[in-house]
Amino acid sequence: MKLTVAEENYIKAIYKLESQHTKATTNGLAAMLETSPAAVTDMANRLQKKKLISYEKYYGLKLTPSGKKHAMHIIRRHRLWECFLVEKLGFGWDEVHHLAEELEHIRDERLIERLAHFLQYPSFDPHGDPIPDAAGTLKTAPHIPLSHAPVQQPLKVSGVADQSAALLRFLQQKGIAPGTRLRVLHIYEYDGSVEIKLLKQSSFTLSQQVANNIYVQTYGKN
Ligand SMILES: [Zn+2]
Repeated sequence: MKLTVAEENYIKAIYKLESQHTKATTNGLAAMLETSPAAVTDMANRLQKKKLISYEKYYGLKLTPSGKKHAMHIIRRHRLWECFLVEKLGFGWDEVHHLAEELEHIRDERLIERLAHFLQYPSFDPHGDPIPDAAGTLKTAPHIPLSHAPVQQPLKVSGVADQSAALLRFLQQKGIAPGTRLRVLHIYEYDGSVEIKLLKQSSFTLSQQVANNIYVQTYGKN
């Protein structure tokens, strides 16, 4: 079943709300998609007819298993394009989201599979978000915010919670990106700031606010 761009954007918006454990209400979606509640109701009826969502006035919009599968494919396309733009075309990771918002709507399966193959089947996008596989399955890795990470253990940056361009540029200046290896030397009790050390660099301190927005994973010595 081919969906329109508008339908895909609704599916994605509902998925986003559900993944944040927020009920997708007509008003909530209207605000998120900058449209009117009446337009959301129209679309809700359309999506329900296609069995992509279940919709009841007071319970909001919920993705059906088929709706969720579509959502995973849209997200897969979005995140693969972000990888391509950063790794192959040299865009900054703060520049690619809005481009991927458009590219994600190209639904040629052969194109997407060749893209995935060309990129050697990445598991994470440049922001550290996991990429669903071709079957639409998402493997989520355990993320720890840097502000709560274990001290003196090898850590790898797995993603960022806040994807604002300002934060991404700040991290880039500090040499921090998904995959960066580091250790926490000290977490200061006074203000929660975190002293870290990247490989072959002298240590520096990040504010608690920044550390809260960086996710890391521990990894073995090998
Ligand atoms: Zn994005």
